Amino acid sequence: MIEIQKTETATKPEGLRVVTDVVCPFCGTLCDDIKVVLDGNRIVDTMNACIIGNEKFKSAQAGHRIMQPLEREDGTTEFTPVSYDYAIEKAAQILASAKRPLYYGWSSTSCEAQEIGNELAEVTGGVTDNTASVCHGPSILAIQTVGAPMCTLGEVKNRADLIIYWGCNPIHAHPRHMSRYTIYPRGFFTERGFDDRTLVVVDPRPTDTAKQADIYIQVEQGKDYELLDALRTVTRGEDIPDVVAGVKKEQIKELAEVAKSKKFGLLFFGMGVTQTTGKHRNIDMAISWTQDMNKYTKFNLIPMRGHYNVTGSGQVMSWQSGFPFAMDFSRGYPRYNPGETAANDILLRHECDAALIIASDPGAHFPVEAMKYYAQIPTIAIDPHYTPTTGISKLVIPSSIIGVEEEGTAYRMDNVPIRCRKVVDAPKGILSDEEILRRILNRVKELKGIPAGQGHH
Ligand code: SF4
Repeated sequence: MIEIQKTETATKPEGLRVVTDVVCPFCGTLCDDIKVVLDGNRIVDTMNACIIGNEKFKSAQAGHRIMQPLEREDGTTEFTPVSYDYAIEKAAQILASAKRPLYYGWSSTSCEAQEIGNELAEVTGGVTDNTASVCHGPSILAIQTVGAPMCTLGEVKNRADLIIYWGCNPIHAHPRHMSRYTIYPRGFFTERGFDDRTLVVVDPRPTDTAKQADIYIQVEQGKDYELLDALRTVTRGEDIPDVVAGVKKEQIKELAEVAKSKKFGLLFFGMGVTQTTGKHRNIDMAISWTQDMNKYTKFNLIPMRGHYNVTGSGQVMSWQSGFPFAMDFSRGYPRYNPGETAANDILLRHECDAALIIASDPGAHFPVEAMKYYAQIPTIAIDPHYTPTTGISKLVIPSSIIGVEEEGTAYRMDNVPIRCRKVVDAPKGILSDEEILRRILNRVKELKGIPAGQGHH
């Protein structure tokens, strides 16, 4: 704190103030040491944040904020400004009259908003799904099948002397992951920081993360399952072919021996493993190898979760209804069958008759055929910014930014809940995700004749 005040006095003009211990609401690393420099209600700068995190804070004041609810006339690309009251009433009517509405996104909003959204899905008999279904869903399926030896990032910082990044590129996707938790920080049992740790990268491409590795293994694209299986085999002392997945036997044996020689190993894995051939079977194998390794030393794994609160969405869905994504309430009870009940499955088979998208941008990431159907049905997008999704939605409701303009709870990639702070006020009149969803939920309950006190809210 003293150091911060000195910095502020020395380098910042009169009138500026610094808010400390701010949480960055961008990626699953959820860095909680950000300092935000304010001039009144304006964010002037950030300290400690990476370039992406800095942009997230600056985006609050960028020109592409949506400042008023909008409605698009059928068959046109023109939007008309409407009031919040009108937009919420219209949204409630769309959702209350739908047979099976789809709710998708949830990964860049708070647990508090997610909780209300899941209840909305339940009372409307809809399907609710988060971005895990196109990201780490296979990790979740594998964990449900074989369990997972996991730990917190704090333990990684203090204990891990072997870090393996497999199918992920944190230098670009989670830029402070290595400096805060894995490679560079000095921990309780890793006093020499970088010098106490070995970095292994497994990736088909020589990424910027791979360039920093002590050992880089260039696996053949889509052959992660084979390589993990071979690694399990040599770890147990059995023989393997001379080359597996494009990697020589000697290199696979070297990795197994290095892993066995360490005190505390960590396998971080990304979409390069979850979304390539094999999907959840790849993760089954990664978990099985991690379990095997615990016969020789301490070993854990952690998925590199992307959106800052995708982990929280899985947590909230699980504690409310038992399943972490792709949850279908259309039979009156929660049902979960990824491949049938995930957002893309539903959209591609035209199995929803309305949709609400929040805190995500499927318009930029889903298959064109899925979004073509989305563009034809009554849809609601809740987002602070204009996105490809808002551009094809019927109703657009602007919201404030959690972690910048609103407090809210989020779960870090290692399942640690962290309270995000508010640093500035939202633009005048802009409501939070939580407020918008609560008002829609209350109105839907009225329209459906559900007593006000019934349900969670
Ligand atoms: S690493 Fe992630 S959470 Fe940390 S500052 Fe960068 S974007 Fe934000």
